Amino acid sequence: MYANYHTHTTRCNHARGSEREYIETAIERGVRVLGFSDHVPYPFPNGHESGFRVPRALLEDYVVTVENLKKEYADQIEIHLGFEAEYYPKFHALLLEYLKPYPYEYLIMGQHFIANEIDEPIYCGGKVGADVPWRYARQVIEGLKTGDFTYFAHPDLPSNTERGQDYLDAMEYICREALALDIPLELNFLGLHDRRVYPCHDFWEIAGRVGNKVIFGCDAHDPWAVADPATIESAEAWVRQHGLQVIDRVRLHRPNM
Ligand SMILES: [Zn+2]
Ligand SMILES: [Zn+2]
Repeated sequence: MYANYHTHTTRCNHARGSEREYIETAIERGVRVLGFSDHVPYPFPNGHESGFRVPRALLEDYVVTVENLKKEYADQIEIHLGFEAEYYPKFHALLLEYLKPYPYEYLIMGQHFIANEIDEPIYCGGKVGADVPWRYARQVIEGLKTGDFTYFAHPDLPSNTERGQDYLDAMEYICREALALDIPLELNFLGLHDRRVYPCHDFWEIAGRVGNKVIFGCDAHDPWAVADPATIESAEAWVRQHGLQVIDRVRLHRPNM
C-alpha cells in the first residue's frame, strides 16, 4: 500500500493508540504516505458537539501534534494533515471559515449524516429508509461539486436498506457524477474488515462498470488497521471481482476558499 489518507486519532473518542503507533505501523508495512483525517470538529452555530468528532477544544492539539510528527518523521514517511468531513449545505461556508487558519492539506468526504445533525439528523451508517439513498446521493454530489473534497470515503455508506431499483439508480448517479468530476471513490477497509454493510457488492459492481477511479482507505481507528495485510488481500479480491480501476495515490488539495 503506497498511501493511506484515512487515519483517525483518539480525539474522536472512538479510536485507540497514539499517532506515533499509527506512523510506525505504516513505516513497518512499507506505506510511503500517511494522511491523518480525523472527524472534523464542526462549528455548529448552536454550539452542538457531535460525540464522534474531534471536539473543538482539541482542534489545535490535533493540528500541532500532526505537524510536529510530520517534521520529526520527514526522512522516513510523508505525513499529511487532513480531515474527514460531511457536506452540510447550510454550514459548509462556516466550516471552511473555521478551518481556514489551520495548515490542513485536504478534506475527504465522509457523509455520516444527511441534512445536518442539528436540524434533521439522519444517520446513514445504520438501517435507513428507502428514500435515504437518493437524498444522500443528491447531497453528496452537491458537496463534491464544490471541489472542496479530495476523495469520497465509503461512498456506499447507506446500503443497509432495501436495495431495489431506487437504490441502484442513486448509486449509479453517484458513480457517474464522481467520474465526471474526476473524484476517486474509496474502498473502505474498516467496513471490509468488520464485514459491515459497506462496501456493498451492488455498489462496486456499478463503480466497476462506470469506470470510477478507486482508492483504498484504511479508515484506521486502531494502529493495526494501517495497511493491514489481510484486509489488503480481501480488497484485492473485490478489485478483481468488479474490475475496479485502483489508483495508489491522489493529489491533495485544500478547499477553494
Ligand atoms: Zn470514525
Ligand atoms: Zn473515517
